Amino acid sequence: MEDEELEEYLFKVVIIGDSAVGKSNLLSRYARNEFNLHSKATIGVEFQTQSMEIDGKEVKAQIWDTAGQERFRAVTSAYYRGAVGALVVYDISRRTTFESVGRWLEELKTHNDKTVARILVGNKSDLENIRDISVEEAKSLAEEEGMFFMETSALNSTNVRTAFEMVIKEIYNNIS
Ligand code: GDP
Ligand code: MG
Repeated sequence: MEDEELEEYLFKVVIIGDSAVGKSNLLSRYARNEFNLHSKATIGVEFQTQSMEIDGKEVKAQIWDTAGQERFRAVTSAYYRGAVGALVVYDISRRTTFESVGRWLEELKTHNDKTVARILVGNKSDLENIRDISVEEAKSLAEEEGMFFMETSALNSTNVRTAFEMVIKEIYNNIS
């Protein structure tokens, strides 16, 4: 038997959703505690690796961000390949981005036959004054789809770590 303490896990997680919902900033907030008000579509980093401890084991998540391809609806198969977790992000102040969630879920299904731990993320919760999607409406979609749900703000850090860690813990639960 292998020594339990040497057990290590590496999970691929993808972030999907319409352009400008805050995907890149969610990742930079989580991985580097950074936020960029004028972030350009391409940051040039394919993924960031983050570790957390679950059951005394080191669990690493390789979290992939698009390089802005979603503007052209051309996120490639390579992006999805091998993903076991996904954050499906919309912007709580823009209904069109919420309406796209179904399409992103379809795309995810098309590319992955295995179980994918999924969380619906309503980002920009700091924009309460121009909210376009209620928490109730988003929750009911998440329930229908059997996914977790969380509102986040990459700007003020609310729930960002929690959202990523929910997915990572669920992946771990799925395999153990
Ligand atoms: P992406 O295209 O989905 O990767 O979105 P970005 O991360 O590039 O963000 C798009 C724009 O939304 C940028 O101007 C960000 O500064 C802004 N943004 C991202 N997250 C938040 C947030 O939580 N709150 C607010 N108010 N703006 C955000
Ligand atoms: Mg981006």
